[in-house]
Amino acid sequence: MAYHQADPMPTLEDTTKLMRFQRKLIYLILCLPFILSACSMHKLTSDEQNELYTLPGLNHGLLQSPINILSFKEETAKNHKITLHFQDNIETISNIGDVVQLNFSEGSVISFRGLTYNFKQIHFHTPSEHFIDGITFPMEMHVVTNKPSKNKNNIPRYLVIAFLFKMGEASQFIDDFLNLIPSTGNSVTSIKPGTVKLRDLFYGTEQREIENFYHYRGSLTTPPYTETVEWFVFKNILEASPEQIKSINLIKGDNARRIQGTFGRSIH
Ligand SMILES: [Zn+2]
Repeated sequence: MAYHQADPMPTLEDTTKLMRFQRKLIYLILCLPFILSACSMHKLTSDEQNELYTLPGLNHGLLQSPINILSFKEETAKNHKITLHFQDNIETISNIGDVVQLNFSEGSVISFRGLTYNFKQIHFHTPSEHFIDGITFPMEMHVVTNKPSKNKNNIPRYLVIAFLFKMGEASQFIDDFLNLIPSTGNSVTSIKPGTVKLRDLFYGTEQREIENFYHYRGSLTTPPYTETVEWFVFKNILEASPEQIKSINLIKGDNARRIQGTFGRSIH
């Protein structure tokens, strides 16, 4: 049978220790609001806010791009075609800001769900901005079209076609303009009509209706991150040679925005 020893009576020393502990605790509780407010005093710069890419509501909403496209989540949709009416009329190449850009003259349009968008420009990102099933690619090209706004906030609508590139054979389309890119920053070069042919990308066919895309609603991937973009990410992965991809990367360096949360958006 175990002998049960009663707890000894607290000594004067124990009582003093306890009182000191209680005082520290009260002091800590009183100071807590000041400690917390000190933590939140550091205001985020816009660059830092952009880094917090999974948090909505800082300077954008819940429809941001790029995203990781999960192919198993693709839903089938009716009316899923975009119709091209294009001429080969890229008229200038510019080396400005963060991108090399091919600029269209007026005239090429694309239609989707009864709306007509004007081709504006083509630019590149290295590495890719979109992921497919968690996989990144060495390069992504964006064909940007827009539709002037008629709403009261004056926000234009965009339709962007994204082409992903893997390393492989040299791309004729890229070869046609690679040597024409202005080597100095902030400059624009005019090119002869027909030098760069958009139809090279669409396999040089008369095909006008294209449906081999992942489609979702998102945003521009550069400021002001406007959330009025119909994204069409081409399912066929194109090829470019390692030298071509490296040449484009050398001009602007890595310029891909990080992937953003999908927040339940569907992919068609
Ligand atoms: Zn882009």
